[in-house]
Amino acid sequence: MKKSLYFYIEPYVYIRGCESGIILINLLDDKAFTFKDIQSIKIGLSLLSSPKRTVKIAEEDLQTPIIIVTNKNFMGDIVSASSQPLQFYSEINEVSGIEAYRKSVIYSKYNIGRFISNCTIFVDMANQDCRDYIKCITGVESIPDNSICRVLSKMDKNDIDLYINKLVDINPNMTLNICGINCHLLDYISEKHPAVTINPILSLRTLKSSPELCDFIRQNKTKYTLLLDLPCDKSDIFIKDMIHSIYVKITNEEDIYDANNLSEIGCQIKSCPVLTSDNIDFIKSLLSISNDDLLNIDNKYRTIKINNLINSNFWGKIYVFPKGKVCYSLASDYIIELNQLYDTYKGDFLNGTFDWTITRNFSNCRFCMFQYLCPSPNHIETYLRMKGLIKCLMTKD
Ligand code: SF4
Repeated sequence: MKKSLYFYIEPYVYIRGCESGIILINLLDDKAFTFKDIQSIKIGLSLLSSPKRTVKIAEEDLQTPIIIVTNKNFMGDIVSASSQPLQFYSEINEVSGIEAYRKSVIYSKYNIGRFISNCTIFVDMANQDCRDYIKCITGVESIPDNSICRVLSKMDKNDIDLYINKLVDINPNMTLNICGINCHLLDYISEKHPAVTINPILSLRTLKSSPELCDFIRQNKTKYTLLLDLPCDKSDIFIKDMIHSIYVKITNEEDIYDANNLSEIGCQIKSCPVLTSDNIDFIKSLLSISNDDLLNIDNKYRTIKINNLINSNFWGKIYVFPKGKVCYSLASDYIIELNQLYDTYKGDFLNGTFDWTITRNFSNCRFCMFQYLCPSPNHIETYLRMKGLIKCLMTKD
């Protein structure tokens, strides 16, 4: 019987491609190769659509870049056979979907609540700190259009007690960031809930205007997160030794320079790019990535798997607003009543279809070979895409 040549890739090789290119990644040593010539793309796409994961090639195809590179790097081979051979299933190439999510996110019915690891409680939505923090998280100067962020209501002591009790019932180890708080309420919460991990989020403006809050932090050695709005706040940062982390609003190059200087004095810095009316090019440059950035990612298996299944920017976080309203992400319209939080969350978590699992599924990205190497989409990228201001993050050479 006449034999033909068949090309295959090893099960430890990730392959993804579209009409404009094919990427192969050896998941054992992280080496990655892209191919943009017509014949390599044709062979790669045939391989991707083959139910047997092998593709018949002609003698002259042996000189095609994808075949030469694959052979040279032990990522695949050619066999001569009289019928089309079958290659092993490659788990990484089939990692999306609810079954993969359920297999990868290991949970039991007793620990589902533990996945909510970080909750921000907005005590008083009229307090400027809440609005500044929302800006830092969403990266947009204007407050999100959803109803929840725009209602200027506040919590009283009873609300706060009730909410904290409900939250720690779900996960006793949850970190509670408290934003829009005054000294009196911080004192009350610390006394009433000594076993809970509380992280007050305070702007320098609030600390400056409230000596009693500063005294409280010093005396009780309360770790807090500082919200810093450069350049107006850059001259004096105080109670340094009690700072847990600093969220620095970044709107231009100079802010980056100042934020780098802060990290040199030993502060844990989270840079928060914020889009204003005149810095779109700067923000785009911060989001921008290059071909090499993606090809040089360490542990690509982990990156691809995570980016296929969850959104690493949103995973594990919830936000609680006055009147017991809860959401999984700040730009979302999906609001849960705190009273039903656990049951609703449990359903969402098991179904895997909620903000925590929003992956890179934009129309431009869906068929791109870099879809799951590019980072999980964050608020600011989603906002720019919604406004038609960005199509692709790969704008660097
Ligand atoms: S942003 Fe989208 S289109 Fe651009 S490289 Fe990443 S996945 Fe591809």
